[in-house]
Amino acid sequence: MKKNSWLIGLAAVVVLIAAYLIIINFAHKPNDLSQATAETGKLRIAASINPIADMAAQIGGQFVKVDVILPPGASPHTFEPTPQQIRNMQGVALVFAIGHGLDDWIQPIVDNASGATVLAVDKDIKMRELPLNQRDEDEPDQTVDPHYWLTPANAKTISQNITDALSQADPAHKDAYASNLASYQKQLDDLDAYIKNKLSGITSREMITHHNAWGYFADAYGLQIVGTFEISPGREPTPQQIADLHSKAKEFNVKTIFSEPQLSDASLRPFVQDLSLNVKILDPVGTNMGYIDMMRYNADTISKALR
Ligand SMILES: [Zn+2]
Repeated sequence: MKKNSWLIGLAAVVVLIAAYLIIINFAHKPNDLSQATAETGKLRIAASINPIADMAAQIGGQFVKVDVILPPGASPHTFEPTPQQIRNMQGVALVFAIGHGLDDWIQPIVDNASGATVLAVDKDIKMRELPLNQRDEDEPDQTVDPHYWLTPANAKTISQNITDALSQADPAHKDAYASNLASYQKQLDDLDAYIKNKLSGITSREMITHHNAWGYFADAYGLQIVGTFEISPGREPTPQQIADLHSKAKEFNVKTIFSEPQLSDASLRPFVQDLSLNVKILDPVGTNMGYIDMMRYNADTISKALR
């Protein structure tokens, strides 16, 4: 009798442990798409930077929940995700990235959010080779310019790539995604016309920038970046680089340097004072605006400065 009740007790413990393991197994199921959609009723996606998150929100509309990983005010070149941000990615199914060295910090996030797929949105984009004198000596493998999202034409391609990925992940809503794409691409055509019109009245086309983000934009709209202050983001230029910038500024009669909200102006100040330059702020990641407003703002700023 005593032995029997001991056996019953043991059996009960075994059953409880088995039940516990089954529950744990369900709770820790990998974040496949069914789970990612089940919790919110929406497909959970994320993007490394705000412009791509905004495009994904425009295409995905009511059927997606989009997180952006780079916080306001941070530069993608120097950012490191916090453990909390990594935890927030649990349940995300798809992560859109720029690639080409801009947002390599996406990898630890995705490694943690098991089941998430990372997709660089660069398919069919013609990458711009960085001129030899504009390559980051800290990143010798980086031979192309990663800032390809900064033209409306490339934004159309990126939006197409996002649409393809959403349609594949969530085929039930692919007609809605296609229709959102069509109307968004129309807005991007209007944006292109707006920028061309804004820049039609400028009297000089040479620019000096704080960092190397505007090559695609310059190529698309007939501008010329004659110098860049910080070729390695976060690192001050050498005396030789400063001397080169001085002579470029004189040669092209440059009156303005274009900085960014994500960069520190402290190191820029002596150079700006020496040449009596104006400082204007361009925004490549649109801290508090969607992509189209951000690009309008940038075109307005360049247009006013080069008039
Ligand atoms: Zn950049």
